[in-house]
Amino acid sequence: MDFKQTYSFDDVLLVPQHSDIESRTQVDTSNKLSRDINLSLPVISSPMDTVTEDSMAVAMHTAGGLGVIHRYNTIQEQADLIKKSSMNGAGQFVAGAIGATGDYLFRAQALREAGTRVICVDVAHGHHTLMKKALTNLRLEFGDDVHIMAGNVATLEAFDDLASWGADSIRVGIGGGSICSTRMVSGHGMPTFQSILECSRTTYDVKIIADGGMKTTGDMVKALAAGADFVMVGSMLAGTKETPGETFVGKEQKKYKVYRGMASTAAQKSWRGKSSTPEGVSTTVPYRGSVKNILEDIAGGIRSGLSYSGARSLEELRGKASFIRQSSAAQLESNTHILWRNK
Ligand code: IMP
Repeated sequence: MDFKQTYSFDDVLLVPQHSDIESRTQVDTSNKLSRDINLSLPVISSPMDTVTEDSMAVAMHTAGGLGVIHRYNTIQEQADLIKKSSMNGAGQFVAGAIGATGDYLFRAQALREAGTRVICVDVAHGHHTLMKKALTNLRLEFGDDVHIMAGNVATLEAFDDLASWGADSIRVGIGGGSICSTRMVSGHGMPTFQSILECSRTTYDVKIIADGGMKTTGDMVKALAAGADFVMVGSMLAGTKETPGETFVGKEQKKYKVYRGMASTAAQKSWRGKSSTPEGVSTTVPYRGSVKNILEDIAGGIRSGLSYSGARSLEELRGKASFIRQSSAAQLESNTHILWRNK
């Protein structure tokens, strides 16, 4: 059997390049999601019930990114959340997630009526005949009036299929999420970085959204340099004030919030009253205050990344990026090793 060599974020580093960028303010991190939706920060928050509802969507929009409001609620509840964030005509900058079965078409219609122009077909294994059906029906219903985000996929073949079925942007990454147990449960998946590298060879004019497994802004920069147009994150925003859910006092009197996979036992029980074969976990994360500060750090980290590659834009970053494989010794050196050395 021929085993393919694949790479994860931690396997690679970007080689620093000559730069004539004198200030990080000269770096432009914007990217167009569609003809008329431009994001100045190429970051999208995950459609999860512990990540994105109205407060996160507003914070993402204010920071220049995009929030995708999750679908684990009634159609009315989700439409109301879209309306609440749609203040001041900003509705087109809030996305809403739907499934690919059941009432998904009604949900999509309600979300469109509530003001969104970005609909995300949110399916764990997106390379599926049900996805083809859903994308075909959504195109018949809306024509070009909505931007259709779809996923998730892991391979170029899947990416190209979803593109040919009508997706405008595709979430790339299967099994890499911080709360995901898909690879352990099913034995399937592909390192997210590898999936991005492969999907970036597409000839379709469809946006690549790297999704799952990014732990740092360094990982985000690697994803963008490897060909992603946008990055989608859950855990990097988890625990902030704007995520749904209560803050509670836990160990050592510190504040915490819940972050959970949407296929975890806990999440399944709350959105459909029962659970079968979980493919995710639920955990608590330290409370981190307002997401505004975190998004500022993310924006700063991405700018810094572009500047180390001597790139003024995401397009230049992709053109200039030079990746090397790092050894396990280099991986240790790449971390702030004094923190564990002195333990
Ligand atoms: P993170 O940024 O590494 O925390 O990953 C977030 C991503 O994990 C989401 O955008 C989804 O694609 C994915 N995800 C969310 N819930 C689950 C789950 O229960 N199982 C597997 N993947 C999940």
